[in-house]
Amino acid sequence: MRAADISDDISEVLLTEEQIHEKLAELATQVVTDYEGREVVLVGVLKGAVMVMADFARHLPVHVSMDWMAVSSYGASTRSSGVVQIRKDLDTDITGKHVLIVEDIIDSGLTLSWLLENFASRGAASVEVLALLRKPDAMKVHVDCRYVGFDIPNDFVIGYGLDYAERYRNLRDVAVLAPHVYS
Ligand code: 5GP
Ligand code: MG
Ligand code: MG
Repeated sequence: MRAADISDDISEVLLTEEQIHEKLAELATQVVTDYEGREVVLVGVLKGAVMVMADFARHLPVHVSMDWMAVSSYGASTRSSGVVQIRKDLDTDITGKHVLIVEDIIDSGLTLSWLLENFASRGAASVEVLALLRKPDAMKVHVDCRYVGFDIPNDFVIGYGLDYAERYRNLRDVAVLAPHVYS
């Protein structure tokens, strides 16, 4: 049996793989400059940030460590519940470390503001955020995000790690999900 084609479920490609890679290379250059002399712990937020982490980290010519955290605030819906739950905690102690949180997208900002507070309470020396995407019109709480890839409209997007009901993460581009998929 042939699996259904992903392209049938897309209404518009928002960012191509090439645009994403170019932006991540730019952000990596900035990060290397900003963190000169300080080793960074990259913390990826599972699962959406897997692609961002993989591609961003490979643009860094310096030593870093990587850790992962899994939190949930969405389930299979397309709207944030505001309730954050730790599903997988860090493996490493970040006390005194310079942490750079790597995120796929800032939507309401609720997940990140919760994470920032959580990391600060563990005694990290510094905590900054890198997010590939941000939806300025959807933000409910202000989050200081030092490195932003792209500001995008307030549509539900998929691809490049971002899912809808666990599908579409393997799409190379970032695209707007066609409404017929969820309505
Ligand atoms: P926030 O707490 O900022 O509302 O978003 C929490 C998480 O929900 C994000 O890190 C991301 O994994 C997911 N999310 C938010 N907006 C979108 C979206 O447009 N598409 C997808 N696939 N996930 C999203
Ligand atoms: Mg995320
Ligand atoms: Mg998701």
